[in-house]
Amino acid sequence: MGHDFAKGVAALDRQIDSRIAAYFSSCVHCGLCAEACLFYTETNDPRYTPIYKLEPMRRLWKEKHTFWGKFAIKLGLSKPLTEQDFADWEELVYDSCTLCGRCSMVCPVGNDITYMIRKEREGFSVAGYSPPGLQEATHRALTIGSPMGITLKTLQAALSHVEKNTGLKIPMDQPGADYMTLFSSMEVVNFPEYIESVARIFDAAQVSWTISSEAFEATNSGIQIGSSEAAKELVSRVVNAAESLGVKYVISPECGHAYTAIRWEGPNLIGRPYKFEIIHILELLDQLQKAGRLSLSGSTDIPLTFHDPCQIVRRGGVIEPPRDLLAKVAANFVEMGDHGDMNWCCGGGGGVSANERADGLRLKVFDRKQQQIEALGVKTLVTACANCRIVLEEGIEDRDMDVDVIGLTELVAEHLAAKAAS
Ligand code: SF4
Ligand code: SF4
Repeated sequence: MGHDFAKGVAALDRQIDSRIAAYFSSCVHCGLCAEACLFYTETNDPRYTPIYKLEPMRRLWKEKHTFWGKFAIKLGLSKPLTEQDFADWEELVYDSCTLCGRCSMVCPVGNDITYMIRKEREGFSVAGYSPPGLQEATHRALTIGSPMGITLKTLQAALSHVEKNTGLKIPMDQPGADYMTLFSSMEVVNFPEYIESVARIFDAAQVSWTISSEAFEATNSGIQIGSSEAAKELVSRVVNAAESLGVKYVISPECGHAYTAIRWEGPNLIGRPYKFEIIHILELLDQLQKAGRLSLSGSTDIPLTFHDPCQIVRRGGVIEPPRDLLAKVAANFVEMGDHGDMNWCCGGGGGVSANERADGLRLKVFDRKQQQIEALGVKTLVTACANCRIVLEEGIEDRDMDVDVIGLTELVAEHLAAKAAS
């Protein structure tokens, strides 16, 4: 992709609404956001202070929207934003931010810094200053239907394995089903056991569900790269499929940013409410379990802990369902330090893991997760996001740690299977 500075500046300027302006005006430069960001805490590099990552947008706000900013530019007392600033900040805006939301939790004046970085990426992506890995993933999502290039045929091949393993028929394009489920490409390629677990659980709980051949991909690279146009197109595909099948709910799978995209950003992107509801798989499993539709037994006594996916727990509010489920299947579940809505990111969300250039930094900031796990001495880590899972597995391998990572839906299905067999 080529660079277009003028277009990028115009796009960045369009993001500066009253909310963004209020955030910039109220920053008291306390630096607390730095201590919340693992890219700063694990490197001590002041450039990774969250509010500093917003410097290009702050300067544009000042020069175009404040009296003193315009005055200073006229008198030559400050310099306008340049193309070199886009080039210099690209790494800070993409490689060193997972959009994890932790900085927003600690800002004493309530600045949602994560929202601001998400907005800043809109200008950077239009200017062409975004990581090639994310540009390619977004292109594949728009043209093929999935950021990893998964086609319907690939999904069908994975589903036929699931059918063979379970003896169950996987419903496809069933009009009037209650639930339409989405999968992330990573689940199809790396963790088909998630699909198998869903099939077993839904069969046991007699859930009326379907997959759509028109829209099965949950992930949304448009959100990660910062292109509302691409994000809207990807959300629209899911909405059109769900509304044409007439389902009551769409299930967001074990993928963090997919949940943010479809549940929180989606209606704003398409400019209207959906005719169905979004539910995260963990919320649904918890509801089924509480309604007595899932009999779980045979709680494991292996000591284990839970890594909270940022977009599901901190940004998504799904805090209790994973814990309620773990209470049913894991007798020796222990919380990490800083668990729940203040847990530390895996280091690879927000498109960082799709950006090869950031691999070294991502593995460096894994120090924090390693410390959290080693402080507990557990050998099993449960999570609920396929991207977190890959990133955690890579970090664990890099550090030569003796820890297994499993998905929570899979763990629930294992206990369901144990009961069914007994
Ligand atoms: S959203 Fe997370 S990674 Fe990004 S600046 Fe804030 S704390 Fe750091
Ligand atoms: S925590 Fe909030 S007020 Fe403090 S420097 Fe960061 S953005 Fe500014």
